Amino acid sequence: MTKMQNDQGGTTVSPFFAGLMCRCPHCGQGKVLTGLLDVVPACTVCELDLSAHDTGDGPAVFVILIVGGFAVGLAFFVETTFAPPTWVHLIYQIPFVLGASILCLRPLKAILIALQYRNHVGSFNDTPAD
Ligand SMILES: [Zn+2]
Repeated sequence: MTKMQNDQGGTTVSPFFAGLMCRCPHCGQGKVLTGLLDVVPACTVCELDLSAHDTGDGPAVFVILIVGGFAVGLAFFVETTFAPPTWVHLIYQIPFVLGASILCLRPLKAILIALQYRNHVGSFNDTPAD
C-alpha cells in the first residue's frame, strides 16, 4: 500500500491509491464498497465508520466528464476517418459509454470517499486522518 506523510508527521494512505483499489481511506486494507456501488457501514479491518458518508452526484459528474470526453473523441475519430452512417456510431457508442461508465463509477466513488476522509469533509469532520 502506498503511504505518504501527513502534516503531523504520521503516515496515511494515499486517497487516490486507496480509491483506485476501492480500499479503506484510513487503513488501506478493508473494502469500502460492496456490490456495485453500496458503501459498507464500517471498515472490516479498522472499523472506520463509513455509514454517514455522502458523495452525492460527485462520481457521476466525473464519469460524465471523463467518459463523455472519450466518447466524443472516439466519435470524432471514427467520423473523420471512416465517415460511416449515423447508425454505426450507435452500434459502438452505446456499449462503450455504458461499459466505461460502469467501470469508472466504483473507483471514482471510492476516490471521493477517500478525499472526503482526507480533507475531513461531511461525516469525517470529527475523524482524525491518521
Ligand atoms: Zn480501514
